[in-house]
Amino acid sequence: MCGTELEVRDVTPCLECGALEDSVAVLRQDIAERFQHDTVEYAVYRILETLEISLCTYCALDIGSYSPDVFGLGKKDRVGFGELQLLRVLRDPSVGKDKYCSECKRRLSFTKFLLEARRLNSSQQADRHRA
Ligand SMILES: [Zn+2]
Ligand SMILES: [Zn+2]
Repeated sequence: MCGTELEVRDVTPCLECGALEDSVAVLRQDIAERFQHDTVEYAVYRILETLEISLCTYCALDIGSYSPDVFGLGKKDRVGFGELQLLRVLRDPSVGKDKYCSECKRRLSFTKFLLEARRLNSSQQADRHRA
């Protein structure tokens, strides 16, 4: 969304860290070993009441590190791991493709998710500043 040309990258199901080479390498390894080690688990969570987000366990646990501004929320409305509702564990995660901005260090699908979150919250947060 910053105007930088997006590149296509291999990704894991995690919207947050899925485009990192290390994450993709770990998932490839898990697939090769037929998930005998369960190094990283992926799941779909309900977030912000109506949205769904696909994350690895680490990023889900770390969701509270995001400034509420990122989701279009007010300063006191930090989203913590406790606010995520587990919908389903991805039993057979695979490597996919997504566009990626090397400037924002963000996957296009995560940017879209954040835009949707901000749109949903904007009516209540119209008078607040955003990062
Ligand atoms: Zn960008
Ligand atoms: Zn992740």
